[in-house]
Amino acid sequence: MKTSKLLSLLLLLTVMMSPLRAEDESQATVRHLLLEVKAIPATAQEGEGAFAYNDYNRKRIVSLVRNNALLLATDDEVTELKEAGFAPTILMESDDELTLYRRALYGPSLKPDPVYHTYDQITARAEELMRQRPDLMVRFQIGETTQFHRPIYAYRLSNAAAQVHDRPAILFDGCHHADEVMGAEIVLSLMEKLVAGYGEDPLVTKWLDTLEIYLVPVVNVDGHTYVNSGHDPRWRKNARDVNGDGIVGVFPEGVDVNRGYSFNWAMGGTNDPDGASFRGAHPFSEAENRAMQSLADQRQLLMSISYHSQGEVIYYPWIWGKMAAPDDKVIKRIATDVAAHITRMDGEGTYAVSPGGPSSQSYPWFYGRRGVLDMIIETGKGSHLFPPEDVPGIIAENLKGITAFIAHADGPGLSVRVTDAVTGEPLHAQVWLPRIDNESVDRRFSDAQFGRARRLLDPGEYYLVVSCEGYETEVYPALEVGVEGWTVLEIKLQPSTISRKISAR
Ligand SMILES: [Zn+2]
Repeated sequence: MKTSKLLSLLLLLTVMMSPLRAEDESQATVRHLLLEVKAIPATAQEGEGAFAYNDYNRKRIVSLVRNNALLLATDDEVTELKEAGFAPTILMESDDELTLYRRALYGPSLKPDPVYHTYDQITARAEELMRQRPDLMVRFQIGETTQFHRPIYAYRLSNAAAQVHDRPAILFDGCHHADEVMGAEIVLSLMEKLVAGYGEDPLVTKWLDTLEIYLVPVVNVDGHTYVNSGHDPRWRKNARDVNGDGIVGVFPEGVDVNRGYSFNWAMGGTNDPDGASFRGAHPFSEAENRAMQSLADQRQLLMSISYHSQGEVIYYPWIWGKMAAPDDKVIKRIATDVAAHITRMDGEGTYAVSPGGPSSQSYPWFYGRRGVLDMIIETGKGSHLFPPEDVPGIIAENLKGITAFIAHADGPGLSVRVTDAVTGEPLHAQVWLPRIDNESVDRRFSDAQFGRARRLLDPGEYYLVVSCEGYETEVYPALEVGVEGWTVLEIKLQPSTISRKISAR
């Protein structure tokens, strides 16, 4: 092609594209400066204030920790800030937005601080702990990641961890959201505390002697690896190649695995693949969610906490329209107690509590479908990756929250064991409190392994119905649940006359 022809073609292309380009520029402001602004007053951080931090739109304010903001800006915005009386410092200038985010969230090294553990480091440390105390901790794979097929591990801890025991089981998990890395750090610290504390710390010893504790330090392993390898500190979703073009790791691709559970799935997140909370193609489309489902299938859990960042608030199930969850009083009581034990980063007061929505996230599914008393704790304030000096404090405070949470595994509540009256075999029976449970939650069952169903309740009188196909239904119209501990009930179901006739033939 001759030069003149090439030039005219280029000219034509330029003319054709220019209206589009002008439109694009008017829509997206290109910010090439990273600023630090210190000592931002509280009033500027609220509502329409210039420094209102928003989890889901960090196009301008990247973080706001301890009243110090890191934000992206244009030259004009710097001038505006100065005119408004702020004193911005320019930390970095770059046309590459990702570099600015790395500087803001990782610090001057542009790499994650070593205070944050990679998944490989977490796995290696867990292996070390299991070598030290194989009696206390076992690992099992619950699934693999959607994109890179990495193993997703769960750990079971008790004084005899190789076996499953008929005890209250509690789960702690981290990092459904890749960049909310405090979850992995808190769960890893709990693992260290449990192994080191057994036989030394009376409380830890009691926990492992009487409970089973399950840990999933990282649910979204692929996304967490993007964040903790230095690839991209903004990564929230998993690593799925959503558009199938074979190119992965380009922000904001992926599926939000905390919008992937099958509880009001269509009500949660967005169907926009570029959205921060893209819910994927269908419920349980993501292998990370199926891994958590598999864990819930393997073990009936009593309680669980899922760690996120940020906000210094505990979300519990739920407010649905104007309706609270059937177990609202008990869940709220426990969430409030846990929150009261976790001091905020500013040292002024403790975490807040709030009922969350009823859709697609982990806590409505674990509660509504599986009868687990589940909550999300949004750790820290103003960022997802916190400055390294803030990490030990956030962990220590949340370990206090865990201690408060675990104390509730002692009841009050109802502990029912359902067996076949003839054979003594445990039964997978429906254990129904019809005056509490409504159609918003699935019916609860005793586990097939032990015939056990535990339920945390306020002390008082309850109407209980226990039924199992092939057995006579048992009804307890006025069952008294005591003020302290577990009220234990052994229920031996009689095979029904119909099934007796069938088996007699
Ligand atoms: Zn989150």
